[in-house]
Amino acid sequence: MISTMQDVPLQIRRILEHAVSVYADQKIYTAQPGGGLSTRTFRETGENAARLARALASLGVREGDRVATLMWNNQEHVEAYWAVPSMGAVLHPLNLRLPPAQIGYIACHAEDRVLIADHSLLPLVTPLLPTLTTVEHLIVNGAAASGTDLAALAAAAGRELGVHDYGELVGSQPPTYAWPDVDERSAAAMCYTSGTTGDPKGVVYSHRSIYLHSLCAALPGLLNLTAADRVLAIVPQFHVLAWGLPYTAFVTGAELVQPGPFLQPEPLARLIEASRVNKAAGVPTIWAGLLSWLEANPGAADVSSLKEAVVGGSACPPALLDAYDRLGVTLLHAYGMTETSPLATCARPPVGVTDPAEVRRYRLTQGRGVVPVESRLVGPAGEVLPWDGESTGELELRGPWITGSYYGSEDPDKFHDGWLRTGDVGHISPDGYLTLTDRVKDVIKSGGEWISSVELENQLMAHPAVPEAAVIGVPDEKWGERPLACVVLREGTEVTFSELREFLADKVARWQLPENWARIPEVPKTSVGKFDKKRLREQYALGELVPEKITAS
Ligand code: AMP
Repeated sequence: MISTMQDVPLQIRRILEHAVSVYADQKIYTAQPGGGLSTRTFRETGENAARLARALASLGVREGDRVATLMWNNQEHVEAYWAVPSMGAVLHPLNLRLPPAQIGYIACHAEDRVLIADHSLLPLVTPLLPTLTTVEHLIVNGAAASGTDLAALAAAAGRELGVHDYGELVGSQPPTYAWPDVDERSAAAMCYTSGTTGDPKGVVYSHRSIYLHSLCAALPGLLNLTAADRVLAIVPQFHVLAWGLPYTAFVTGAELVQPGPFLQPEPLARLIEASRVNKAAGVPTIWAGLLSWLEANPGAADVSSLKEAVVGGSACPPALLDAYDRLGVTLLHAYGMTETSPLATCARPPVGVTDPAEVRRYRLTQGRGVVPVESRLVGPAGEVLPWDGESTGELELRGPWITGSYYGSEDPDKFHDGWLRTGDVGHISPDGYLTLTDRVKDVIKSGGEWISSVELENQLMAHPAVPEAAVIGVPDEKWGERPLACVVLREGTEVTFSELREFLADKVARWQLPENWARIPEVPKTSVGKFDKKRLREQYALGELVPEKITAS
């Protein structure tokens, strides 16, 4: 060993200390009721984080303790992102869109000791309090301003529970904290999977994994963030730490805009107009909703500042990419999972490719990986497949911000030989671009061949009368499984299933054309806004979804 380099641990507090000195006057904006924006500088955010850490320490929070949040994307939530890991405790953002019983299960499983909650979420929190048996203190953000009765909350718990107003508890503390020197491999934060695949599982991120992820996410090949950017984080802070955006923003000095609870298309459009963001991040359903509103209300909001928006969490439909291109907004397709921190790949086309059709083709892939994350495709017999753009198998990932095991739960099927089995199926081109064709469990196996449900959905959503489509496999006596196309039809359109089938006829192989069709009012969504095909399968099994047979167009 001849290295002469210093062995400095990669701790989150070092990012904070750097940002509050180098980018002290950069700002975080949070949407307020009535359309205004509150503003805090990075310096103020750092001071408030130190105050919060002192407050938590005064409540007995020690290194390794879990501190949960049940909050919208807002200033105080960002303060918790810095305070909790920097003091050596573990930040645990809870998913406020989950059924209450599941939130309770997750908080108990993580053994959260403190819960910080927005006052607007108290209707959700209050009935849960008796079941949150590990939580000793509840800190309510905005309690005083909203006239919250803290004593009544404590009584509602039916056991000993300290209840505090965030402003009162935190505001009186000094703005400095002697951050400890924690091990870079110790836990900094945790998120539970959104349950697209069964029960939620805990993923614990370390200081080192978040630090490295934040550095790389900022790279030009990925999010390409600098201090000249202002980013709207629509992706919730409970969904894979808002895809790491608060941390990457502080690494780069990029300003952050937080929508709070105002996530409907119109307030989002108005927020873009008011904050003049040039970048943003969210799942496809968010971008689809905003698009519909912008199209229905031409000129009602000036969103021309927005130049690039990260879309991930599920595949970006080509029609969505094209529509945003027409608006002057480049959708940047990225792929990842809770288990991958999340950034695994990002679809910036290769340098030198200029032909518009080629550029579009690359942008619609899931993209290329970043250096510390290794990818491989594995076939049904466990064989590693070549990157030839054709061989299709399950994607496996390995790297310093890829989960190696779930928290408090054995899942040997998911992890093997140091690799994470993603459950996603696809192929990789010789130049490293990943194309996902499906989830393992969503692939439709028809007569021994695979049909990509994603491909059928994308083609259907390219029809102007179809804002949403989800395709699931249903049992078939002859073929084993056949596709059932569940489509949402735009108000006032009269297209028939036969016409939609005909529309697909020159886009997919004939044997892949669905013969089962159902019109649905909307595609059910998961807690993070993805198409919930598990729910559609349940509806089909219960006889709630009765398809029409269309065999000839
Ligand atoms: P979650 O842990 O909730 O973020 O879900 C992760 C899963 O979302 C992945 O395993 C994929 O199935 C899916 N996903 C995320 N990003 C994409 C994408 N760009 N294209 C297709 N599927 C995606």
